[in-house]
Amino acid sequence: AKAAGRNNYQFFDQRMNQAAARRFELESNLRGALGRDEFELHYQPIIDTATRRLHALEVLLRWRRAGGRLVGPDEFIPILEENGTIVPVGEWVIRSACEQSVAWQAQGLAAVPLAINLSARQFMHDGLVESMRRIVGETGIDPALVEFEITETALMQHGGQTLEILRQINGMGMRLSIDDFGTGYSSLAYLKRFPVRKIKIDRAFVRELEASAEDRAIVAAVMALANSLQLSVVAEGVETEGQYALLGSYGCQFAQGYLFARPLPACDTARLLVIEPTV
Ligand code: C2E
Ligand code: CA
Ligand code: CA
Ligand code: CA
Repeated sequence: AKAAGRNNYQFFDQRMNQAAARRFELESNLRGALGRDEFELHYQPIIDTATRRLHALEVLLRWRRAGGRLVGPDEFIPILEENGTIVPVGEWVIRSACEQSVAWQAQGLAAVPLAINLSARQFMHDGLVESMRRIVGETGIDPALVEFEITETALMQHGGQTLEILRQINGMGMRLSIDDFGTGYSSLAYLKRFPVRKIKIDRAFVRELEASAEDRAIVAAVMALANSLQLSVVAEGVETEGQYALLGSYGCQFAQGYLFARPLPACDTARLLVIEPTV
């Protein structure tokens, strides 16, 4: 028994070492990724449930590693958050998304709102509002086309200054939405206090909507709350027609998910922005 225990321990130890080695490898390669221009943006449609037409695009960060392999943000954002590089990388995201939008419009493509994710660390960084102001000035983007998605947890971490920062962002003409709604601190009082226009219902509540009466009750309650506070609602992670139909029946105005489109590289996104000529 003692020998087996020892083997288990060694196995565990080896796996720990592998995880640590992988993390070290990721971290050291991430360090220069911004300078090597290895980040790129993909765009996922958010559709209007009443018309099933494009309403906005969520901007999603990808890391194109040497060799071409694409790495998703769940693998590297936590590392960027921890070592603080999310601040310059996040600024690059905002700037690049705004430049892309302006370029699309210059090509005669539709001006569609962009939903850009902000992490807790970015939100806590003093230079955030100033850098947004600079980006608006330098790119010439219409600020009304920019919406920031912030999680409840990020909002709560910042304490007293939160409201002031949200007001400043709002004062520049940009919009705010609460991401992953229902998964964080569900302190509902802040919804009334903060200048937020939209909430995004987390995928966790949409996934089993058809099978779970509890999830349907949660979504119905969120919709009732949102209606009474005049907030619009986006449902995330919509994958089936059944989910889409249920969400429509609850009055959910916007939806996003693989049912409509996966996140797309810029070239494929541009095709969705072609304006039909009116004769
Ligand atoms: P999120 O903000 O909740 O973004 C939605 C995630 O759900 C995206 O994953 C998207 O690809 C995925 N998704 C969309 N529709 C479906 C669906 O129907 N089914 C399933 N299973 N998944 C769906 P992604 O792109 O891997 O991003 C993961 C997270 O990384 C994001 O979650 C966001 O928190 C973070 N993130 C992405 N880009 C940025 C960024 O530029 N800055 C910051 N700070 N965070 C980012
Ligand atoms: Ca988001
Ligand atoms: Ca989300
Ligand atoms: Ca999420």
